[in-house]
Amino acid sequence: MSDVSSESPLAGRLKKIKPSPTLRITAEAARLKSEGVDIVSLAAGEPDFGVPEHVQEAAIASIRDGKSRYTPSAGIPELRKAIAQKLRTDNGLDYTPDEITVGCGAKNILFTLAQVLFDPKDEIVIPAPYWVTYPDQAFLNDARPLMIRTREADGFTVHPDVLRKAVGRKTKAIILNNPCNPTGAGYTREQLEQIAEIALECGAWIISDEIYEKIVYDDFEFVATASLSPQVKARTITVNGLSKSHAMTGWRMGYAAGPAEIIKAMTMVQSQNISNVTSTVQWASVAALTGDQSCLKEMVAAFQQRKDYVVQRLNGMEGIWCFEPKGAFYAFPRIAHYFAMVDADGNEYKDSTSLCEYLLKQALVSVIPGAAFGGDEYLRLSFATSMDQLKEGLDRIEQALSRLKPGPHYDNYQAHLEQKRF
Ligand code: PMP
Ligand code: GLU
Repeated sequence: MSDVSSESPLAGRLKKIKPSPTLRITAEAARLKSEGVDIVSLAAGEPDFGVPEHVQEAAIASIRDGKSRYTPSAGIPELRKAIAQKLRTDNGLDYTPDEITVGCGAKNILFTLAQVLFDPKDEIVIPAPYWVTYPDQAFLNDARPLMIRTREADGFTVHPDVLRKAVGRKTKAIILNNPCNPTGAGYTREQLEQIAEIALECGAWIISDEIYEKIVYDDFEFVATASLSPQVKARTITVNGLSKSHAMTGWRMGYAAGPAEIIKAMTMVQSQNISNVTSTVQWASVAALTGDQSCLKEMVAAFQQRKDYVVQRLNGMEGIWCFEPKGAFYAFPRIAHYFAMVDADGNEYKDSTSLCEYLLKQALVSVIPGAAFGGDEYLRLSFATSMDQLKEGLDRIEQALSRLKPGPHYDNYQAHLEQKRF
């Protein structure tokens, strides 16, 4: 008889997944801070601004008015109408309310979408560096993530030739994140058209994660993938939410817009899962979408100033190159110059994970290793924190890195990295 007690009760698919590294590292930095450690956290993927006043008021009013019951699983009609209006005004897209469903954040919406779209062994094309959750959600739904590399030289956007080589009969979907977390890549209309053409040719769905749509810089103009043409719209599911645009990360509101058959299936899954997004959050979201948007302007202006500062500081550091983000609120500097360097005690740092540990211990700065996003030569720094913290954090990083010196394997290791460079 087999020893049942030694067998894990957990489903096999869990072997392939891990806790969200971004949430884990952010929580770890918060824990150290609460213990009195003087940490500068550049890890958090959430705006450091308050929820707009009128949104808070709408939430309180909804509770006082007794709007506290179950709602339709797709979301209250008022909210779906407000989302339809937003898509029309901002993106020139026409969706009826039954082509829209509301979930507990974009993360939950992406998961529900994976549930209704992915079959076992379907391939899901994910451009790397990618947001940490995409591959794990594919695994959790028994599909296969297929990572394709993007290059610095292409501004971290998908090169059509690379995509064309990757897609085939098994491709079920391509996940596009525009603007991209962690790279800050942003797609022009022409670039989107090239990708969409390939998706249409091979019959793949486009999952367009547009959660950072509103947080864009300089002269970058955001284009919603589904707005390219009716044909592209028919193969695209747009994912968005209020976490970033209205600083409502903890409230958990995200939505999908797409073909009615898919949206109906997602709503069915939700009816067996979450039932509905918290009623109060839905009423607050109506206010967020239909009310005054000036808070967004102020937030983006602050992000722009921080982005300019952070990128300029990073590019001024020995051996570091940092892409100028088109959107989102992360800098993604290439730090491989420091791989195979050693500290004063002779400890060698060969990857982004060990370098992050070094920065945490020796500089008391928390950042996310590029490895978590499928880009080990990089680090992700969030600039969703004050200018004072950014300055302090970057000073500390610069000093800590300057203390590293090439170790015995430096030249060989760097030559090897150069060969691997895409
Ligand atoms: N997509 C991307 C690219 C993100 O960075 C995030 C941030 N958590 C999400 C989706 C999910 O956002 P939320 O679940 O808070 O709506
Ligand atoms: N998206 C944010 C980030 O990348 C929040 C964390 C998460 O949802 O994983 O940091």
